[in-house]
Amino acid sequence: MLLNVGDIVRMRKPHPCGNDLWKITFVGADIKMKCEKCARVVMLERPVFEKRVKRVEQTAPGRDEGEENSGSAS
Ligand SMILES: [Zn+2]
Repeated sequence: MLLNVGDIVRMRKPHPCGNDLWKITFVGADIKMKCEKCARVVMLERPVFEKRVKRVEQTAPGRDEGEENSGSAS
């Protein structure tokens, strides 16, 4: 699974606050993510994260992995 900081992911189970969208804030051996609704931060080991995640909803802007993207930021 390709992940970048800033990506928005949807989890299989919603957070107790009712939200199921999280923003990735750290990618490494562990994945750190922040609840988009209540701002709670959780850290999961990558295999655990990959089991719980449903899909990437939105990729972080400014990251074009082999994709033509002419977003100029000047
Ligand atoms: Zn929450």
